[in-house]
Amino acid sequence: MNKRKILVTSALPYANGSIHLGHLVEYIQTDIWVRFQKMRGHEIYYVCADDTHGTPIMLRAEQEGITPEALIARVHDEHYGDFTGFHIHFDNYYSTHSDETRHYAEDIYQKLKAGGLITARGIEQLYDPQRNMFLPDRFVKGECPKCGAKDQYGDSCEACGAAYTPTELKNPYSAVSGATPVKKSSEHYFFSLSDERCVDFLRRWTRAGHLQPEAANKMHEWLGDAGENKMSDWDISRDAPYFGFEIPGAPGKYFYVWLDAPIGYMGSFKHLCARENIDFDAYWRKDAETELYHFIGKDILYFHALFWPAMLNYSGYRTPTQIFAHGFLTVNGEKMSKSRGTFITAHSYLKQGLNPEWLRYYYAAKLNGSMEDIDLNLDDFVARVNSDLVGKFINIASRCAGFITKRFDGRLVDGEDYRTLQQTVDERFANWRPDAIEKAFEARDFSLAVRQIMRFADEANEMIHAMAPWEIAKIPGREADLQRICSLGIQLFYLLARYLKPILPETIRQVEDFLNCSKLTWPCLAANEPVSQLLLPAGHAIHAYQHLLTRIDGKQIDALVAANKQSLSADSGTTKTGAKAATEATGGDKPKTAAPIAETITIDDFSKIDLRVAKIVNAEHVEGAEKLLKLTLDIGSEQRTVFAGIKSAYDPEQLKGRMTVMVANLAPRQMKFGLSEGMVLAAGSGGGELFILSPDTGAQPGMRVK
Ligand SMILES: [Zn+2]
Repeated sequence: MNKRKILVTSALPYANGSIHLGHLVEYIQTDIWVRFQKMRGHEIYYVCADDTHGTPIMLRAEQEGITPEALIARVHDEHYGDFTGFHIHFDNYYSTHSDETRHYAEDIYQKLKAGGLITARGIEQLYDPQRNMFLPDRFVKGECPKCGAKDQYGDSCEACGAAYTPTELKNPYSAVSGATPVKKSSEHYFFSLSDERCVDFLRRWTRAGHLQPEAANKMHEWLGDAGENKMSDWDISRDAPYFGFEIPGAPGKYFYVWLDAPIGYMGSFKHLCARENIDFDAYWRKDAETELYHFIGKDILYFHALFWPAMLNYSGYRTPTQIFAHGFLTVNGEKMSKSRGTFITAHSYLKQGLNPEWLRYYYAAKLNGSMEDIDLNLDDFVARVNSDLVGKFINIASRCAGFITKRFDGRLVDGEDYRTLQQTVDERFANWRPDAIEKAFEARDFSLAVRQIMRFADEANEMIHAMAPWEIAKIPGREADLQRICSLGIQLFYLLARYLKPILPETIRQVEDFLNCSKLTWPCLAANEPVSQLLLPAGHAIHAYQHLLTRIDGKQIDALVAANKQSLSADSGTTKTGAKAATEATGGDKPKTAAPIAETITIDDFSKIDLRVAKIVNAEHVEGAEKLLKLTLDIGSEQRTVFAGIKSAYDPEQLKGRMTVMVANLAPRQMKFGLSEGMVLAAGSGGGELFILSPDTGAQPGMRVK
């Protein structure tokens, strides 16, 4: 076999939010493809990283009173835990905030600059005079210049759909401080994408088979026809304060997060290369013969199919072999929605005890390699997993294995009976060849692969049903028939398991134990070889059947939706899924509109409230409580127990040892779970949007807040 060398990436999740089922479409899609290639024996590496830079990260860290480094380290661990929970196996999961990524960002920038493709010019932007920072589009709000709708973002109006620049907004205000922004000019660096060299290159590259046809057409629209240059130069710098890499030779200027995000693929791979002694250049030098694939959501095609290949091409690196874009996820035919409980996080899915392989299977059954959106219909999800995986696949083993274990000491047929079994397979199951399934997996048409595998499973079940081993078992003297039928069932189950392994790695790992066989590889069959070549050997002994996969109970789905239902705030209604939006407010953490200010009170009214700095010495879940965490707070003179409704936003572990502020003279309240002796202060609209307060460094437990 010709051993391919392949490097694969998924888009980098932004370090400012949780992984949800929309994100998982891509990681599951990529993981299945990578596992399939690994099973075939190819040398393939799958790398990813958290995308860690930009204004939203900087502001979020400030809000939490921690450094951006601490924030991204915490989110990295959360993301990695979620991916691992869904059996997504990266060869390396890294961070863009790394020396490797900095090295390649600087290297690429210097080479583009040397090639005359970086220009500098002054641009005027809105500036927050209170916070002393330039405001990204999504951090300016105001009235729509077209329809006058209030509280619209700086780039587009959610009421009338108009697109505009932030300077066109009427009565603009900073979503960071509320201050009225002023116009201020500063020098920015641009990658000259409108340069004829880049445009010509991209025109050729986007038509050279690197993109799906529908993606190539989209890029062509953006590029325009020959002679008509529609590309603009790309602004790749941001002014301090900014969390990112400072541009060499330009103090106070930083690389825009979208410049270093794709470079993070190289950074993560470089990190892996150092650890495992892999030749980095063999994958990235200009004439590399290895394959490079990027799996992405269709919303970030622009960055991956235009900016990225141009950056690579003009800095002396190879360009991607192919870019695989997928569509968005809808749930029950609609955008994921927090109010309907269909904005489901990876963490909550796992926490509710749902099997991650149910979702892997369902996504596989839906993904066809195109850019179409896919729908997670929750009723169909339950029905399909139960009928296909449990009813068709697992059923074969559970019907046949017991007899083999109890009557035949775990032995499948041997000798003449094995030859008869082989003959049966080659006559009745001659179509069970891997070719069509293999082709479908390679083309990322997993839905076609799943349909084919399930047709095989139907055939196996029909055979078992017709032969009715449970009837034969009752007839004395028909032991040989019983062993042959059940052995055939187990052999067919074994073949199905090989085909399903890329999709169900954990279940098939258990199948490997049960069947007492080595790790299942992809079945390879030459054109002149019969299917019986793929079977377990004659007289093979299996272990006793253990339960492999349970059915989904509809109640589990109801509980999952209920757990994800959040009170509807002004703008948390729906969120488009996919990798990340192409704006700087990538994490989906849109700045909130402030609620109206309450009635005026006197200083005496205020002084009645005794606020104290408190140290959270312990935090734990409360059995049976949906929203509450039990906190033990140290306020110097004593310790208090407080039940706080912050479970949706905080993990108890991340609270332990933190300082916060509590109302110390609030009348104690008897709750279902115990006595609550005060209240901690938090901002936000509820659900995942909750932020507890932190005093500045140095404050001690018990200090009064005045
Ligand atoms: Zn409008």
